[in-house]
Amino acid sequence: MKTIANQAIEFGGSEQWKNRLWKGDEHIKFLERSDGNPLDGGKVVFRWPKLSNQNLDLGSSRRFLVNPNGENQADFWLSDEMLVALMPVVVYWVYAGMYTALGSWGDNYRLHSKKDEDEMNLVSKVTVVKGVLLQQFLQVLAVLLLFLVTEGNGDGFSAEQPSSWIDIARQVIIAMLVMDTYHYFFHRFVLHNKFLYRYIHSHHHRLVVPYPFGAIYSHPLEAFLADTISGSLSLVFSGMSARTSIFFFSFAAIKNVDDHCGLLLPGNPFHIFFRNNTVYHDLHHQLHGTKYNFSQPFFVMWDKILGTHMPYSLEKRAEGGFEVRLTKDYKED
Ligand SMILES: [Zn+2]
Ligand SMILES: [Zn+2]
Repeated sequence: MKTIANQAIEFGGSEQWKNRLWKGDEHIKFLERSDGNPLDGGKVVFRWPKLSNQNLDLGSSRRFLVNPNGENQADFWLSDEMLVALMPVVVYWVYAGMYTALGSWGDNYRLHSKKDEDEMNLVSKVTVVKGVLLQQFLQVLAVLLLFLVTEGNGDGFSAEQPSSWIDIARQVIIAMLVMDTYHYFFHRFVLHNKFLYRYIHSHHHRLVVPYPFGAIYSHPLEAFLADTISGSLSLVFSGMSARTSIFFFSFAAIKNVDDHCGLLLPGNPFHIFFRNNTVYHDLHHQLHGTKYNFSQPFFVMWDKILGTHMPYSLEKRAEGGFEVRLTKDYKED
C-alpha cells in the first residue's frame, strides 16, 4: 500500500496528465501546481492541500505511482493508455519483420509461390507499407482521443485490474467473442456488400496472396469501422483493464499478422491452437473464396453456424510449399 499525506508530489512526464491524482482507476482530484517548469528541465511540484491529517490509500494506481521521494515516477508516455495505443503497432512490425527476415528460407513453407505474390497482387508493397502506417497513425490517434474523452467522466477504459487470473481469462474470452461476432457480421454483411466492397473492402482484397506486413492493409475507413470499433466494443463488454488490453490487442495484432503470413512453418502455435489461421483466412483472400471464411480473428463458429465455412485440404506442391484445395464446390457470383 502506498500512502500519501500533506506533501509535495513530484511527477515526471507529460504536462497533460500530471496534475491529477488517481486512486486505483478513480480520478480523485486535480492537484494545485505550485512551482517548477518541466520545460526548463525541472520537475513540477504539485500539492494536495486538503490532505493534512489523512492518509490516502493509492491502491494500484495505474497512471502514477505516487511517491514523494520521487521514486516510481511514471508518465503518460509509459502509461497503460499509451501502451494500449502503441504496443500493437510495435508488435505488428516486429512480428511481420521476423517473417520478412526469413526471406527465401521460408519458400518451402509457402502457400503461394513468390511469382504469384508478385504477379497476382493488385497493389505494390510500397503502397501497402504507406497505407498500413497511415492506418496505424489514425488508429493511435483514435485510441488516444477515446481515452481523453472517457477520462473526463471517469469511466470507459478505467476498469480495475482483477486480482484473479480466472477473472482475467474470462474477460479475455469475452473480448475475443465480442470481437469475432462484430467482425463476422460487419465483414460479411457490410464490407462484402457490393457497393462497399467496391469502394472500401476491395483495398484489403488487393492482396490475393497475403504477406505478413500487409495484414491490416485496408481502406482507412474500414480500419476505423472494423478494427477501432470492434476493439472498443470488446473492451466495454469484457470490462478489461487498460493493462489487460495492452496484451489482448497486441495478441490480436500478432494473430492478424500470422493469419496473413502466407507461410505454414512447422510447430506454429497459432496453427495448432486455432482453426481460424493462415490457411483459413488465405482462402478468403482467393478469388474463389470471397464468399467463405468471413470469421476473424479467433474462432470459426460464425462461419460454421451460418453456413459460410469452406473446408479444405492441404497438399504439398512438387516445387515446394503447399497448396490449399477446397473440398466442396464454391458458389460463383
Ligand atoms: Zn485478410
Ligand atoms: Zn473480405
